[in-house]
Amino acid sequence: MKFIPAPVEYVEEKIKAKVDGYNLLKETEKSGKYWDQPDDAALAAVKKHIKDYYIGVQDGKCPYCRQQMLVKHNGAWDAEHIIPKDLHPRFLFDPENLCVSCKDCNGEKSNKNVLKNSNYKPKKLPRNKDAYIICHPHFDTYEDEVKVVMNPLFHIPKSEKGRKTIEICGLLRFAYKMSTYGTVSTGIADEIGVLHRSLASATEGGEQALILAAIKDKCDEGVELAKRARIADLVKRQSALTG
Ligand SMILES: [Zn+2]
Repeated sequence: MKFIPAPVEYVEEKIKAKVDGYNLLKETEKSGKYWDQPDDAALAAVKKHIKDYYIGVQDGKCPYCRQQMLVKHNGAWDAEHIIPKDLHPRFLFDPENLCVSCKDCNGEKSNKNVLKNSNYKPKKLPRNKDAYIICHPHFDTYEDEVKVVMNPLFHIPKSEKGRKTIEICGLLRFAYKMSTYGTVSTGIADEIGVLHRSLASATEGGEQALILAAIKDKCDEGVELAKRARIADLVKRQSALTG
């Protein structure tokens, strides 16, 4: 089943006029920066329309990490250009190049290339899912590429496309919970990386469960170490002040 049932439409007159106005610009005048122009009320209305629409049809879920966000305020989401707008400004308002994502996935994905042929500058948005190296929110079936394990949230690649989605959207961050403490033991991060790679080749359910349990233990160990390091650091700073 496709994650996004139908792409956004620009029906309302003002919104349509703004989008058409951009699409009629010369290719040399189109730019990803257009999206971030301040004090442009018509642009703000288009962006709000896009975000509100996709938050609704995506059922409050990020298309890359699949976490559900219960925040109602649309500022909690980023409008996401699947092919980055700075690399391909031609697709700035293309409905099938748009969705909403969580801020962390959007930040990780940033301006990274998502096309199989990174030098390819298509005139029309590629609608063939094989043109993309990541799981495309409009064209791919996520469940075929990535298995999501809830509590703790964890992503298992089922294909090369799934592996690339995890890499480009930084989905291993859910395993590296210890990074919220500001330090990550590189040894533990490496071990989690090795376990994660072995998950990709583990096809049997029992084997996957064992590896996941090992990853969870490693994550907990990492959080413990990071907590202790933070406390030790606070104590050291405190005694430097009082001593
Ligand atoms: Zn996300």
